[in-house]
Amino acid sequence: MISKHFITEKFADLHLHTNFSDGTFTPENLVKEAMYMGISTIAITDHDILDGIEPGILAGKKYGVEVIPGVELSARSDDDEAEIHILGYYMDLQNEKFRERLLDFRETRVIRARKIVDKLNELGMEIEYDDVLKLADSSSVGRPHVATALVEKGYVTTNSEAFNRYLFDGGPAYVQKKKISPAGAIAMILNAGGVPILAHPGMIQQDIIPELISMGLMGLEAFHPFHSVQLSNYYCDLAKRYKILITGGSDCHGEAKSKTYLGSVRLPYKHVDALKQAKDYVLEMLDTGC
Ligand code: AMP
Ligand code: FE
Ligand code: FE
Ligand code: ZN
Repeated sequence: MISKHFITEKFADLHLHTNFSDGTFTPENLVKEAMYMGISTIAITDHDILDGIEPGILAGKKYGVEVIPGVELSARSDDDEAEIHILGYYMDLQNEKFRERLLDFRETRVIRARKIVDKLNELGMEIEYDDVLKLADSSSVGRPHVATALVEKGYVTTNSEAFNRYLFDGGPAYVQKKKISPAGAIAMILNAGGVPILAHPGMIQQDIIPELISMGLMGLEAFHPFHSVQLSNYYCDLAKRYKILITGGSDCHGEAKSKTYLGSVRLPYKHVDALKQAKDYVLEMLDTGC
């Protein structure tokens, strides 16, 4: 028999991409999928863009799914260090300064995409810059769009192969994004009334984590499909030790059923409650000018 506890418990997936960045689901389809997967609460966390959030919230009302506004920023402290990703939740979507900075990131992504295409052309691959932009449509263009263009032209068979051969960090067709420091990304989210959380901490150099916390980082994405159970437990303990939040999400980028599919992480709702309290705290701090 299914226990009452099982039926009533709510779960969240707080790391999801739509076709406004490098995901393939529209916000509405993402919401529908969440409903089918029994996920009560999702956060839309596109790279450098907020445009998927409003349609997501609207669809959420239609399908009974709570949709939390989010974003994923890329930061880098030194040119030779790997990128770290900072998730932001509950920012004021109308905050002009925040919107302007995101627009600037997206504009430099466009210039970067052209540079990546130039490098691929030099390597003998005849892909057109316009094809990449068409694939990105009006969204935040990134390497996954270039990877898809390479697949469509038959130079590789999968997006992963495109990354493994050409697009990986430091790879033959790699070009960095606009450089923003981790402290800058954290401050940008806090100043817009949002809660900054370290995305997939298992993918970065570990000794930077305490430093990020001292910069204002408010939580760790302990649960992520790339983390083992042991690693998730480790980050939960670390978060408790530093008295910061625990979050989790699937990092789903779309239909391709993979390890990172929507619902592969089911975060107990108590962590969403804690996130909401943290948001209120940030707003209070902003109000009092701290
Ligand atoms: P960008 O923000 O343009 O640098 O692109 C980074 C995005 O590429 C990530 O958010 C992932 O969605 C995707 N990505 C990164 N590494 C890989 C990989 N090895 N295979 C497929 N997709 C990847
Ligand atoms: Fe992505
Ligand atoms: Fe990420
Ligand atoms: Zn992501």
